[in-house]
Amino acid sequence: MILVVGGAGYIGSHLVEKLIKRNEVVVLDNLSTGHEDAVDPSAVFFKGDLGNESDLEAVFSKYPIKAVMHFAANSLVGESVVDPLKYYENNVASTLKLLRVMLKYNVKNFIFSSTAATYGIPEVEIIGEDSRTQPINPYGQSKLMVENILADFAVAYDLRYVVLRYFNAAGASESGKIGEMHDPETHLIPIILQHLLGQREQISVFGDDYDTPDGTCIRDYIHVKDLANAHIAALDSLLNEQNKTAIYNLGNGQGYSVKEVIDTCEKVTGKKANVVIAERRAGDPARLVASAEKIRQALGWKAERKLEEIISSAWKWHQSVK
Ligand code: UDP
Repeated sequence: MILVVGGAGYIGSHLVEKLIKRNEVVVLDNLSTGHEDAVDPSAVFFKGDLGNESDLEAVFSKYPIKAVMHFAANSLVGESVVDPLKYYENNVASTLKLLRVMLKYNVKNFIFSSTAATYGIPEVEIIGEDSRTQPINPYGQSKLMVENILADFAVAYDLRYVVLRYFNAAGASESGKIGEMHDPETHLIPIILQHLLGQREQISVFGDDYDTPDGTCIRDYIHVKDLANAHIAALDSLLNEQNKTAIYNLGNGQGYSVKEVIDTCEKVTGKKANVVIAERRAGDPARLVASAEKIRQALGWKAERKLEEIISSAWKWHQSVK
């Protein structure tokens, strides 16, 4: 059985939809940001908190867990700058509790959701996994701290792990059942689409004076379904002992500026956006674009879906929930 912590969240629920076709799955989620109805009904759902060891004990003592996939985290850059305590408690301290209980039950396979925010302001245009990690916000710090903890645990306790550093996850499942739904929403693509559906007056572009061709920030957007496939490949690489420890970037290898994302949303939806230029948002690097060569070579995974497809899947989903 595979334990998916945070399996009711945006990315976790897409993974569960895929994983359930081949493994038994138990989902542990406190529903602080996730949605129970996003969890595939064939999975066992357990409402509980990672920070609460008795909830973890309840799951590990009941089910024969052979691997843990950990999606439960706070993940908003801006929020982490104003409330770092929340990020270190929920992302670092709670993960330690999970690892402690895993070791107690001799569960040694771990897939960890990390982030491009671990790199901080990159020194290179295309970021490889060996690029310098120097986060510029507490969110990125909290994820890098866990990565470092995992490296020590691998040496001391023979923990096997794959760290997946996501770039910008976006898109929705074609089943139309699950998509990106945060409250409040802060992510670019859902904000643009909500605006184009008439749910917001305008779109604010956070800074147009960055050192990029059009002055707006560049990101590498990756479809959640591609992310889910990468997790399955990573899980298999641990279970078949191809990997003992590994760190992989997950991205398309192509960057789009905020303005380009807005243009593509206009093209996909056939609607015109009302855009205003606003102040820069704290903690934002100008450019984050992945090299995903390492995982392609090691596990044969690559992102299949480009920006237009990401946006059209999200658009379909946003229209269905409006
Ligand atoms: N962004 C923006 N306006 C918004 C939301 C986001 O200009 O209303 C920008 C943000 O500053 C960043 C990019 O869009 O440069 C992607 O932000 P998002 O929050 O989607 O993801 P992040 O890169 O922070 O993980």
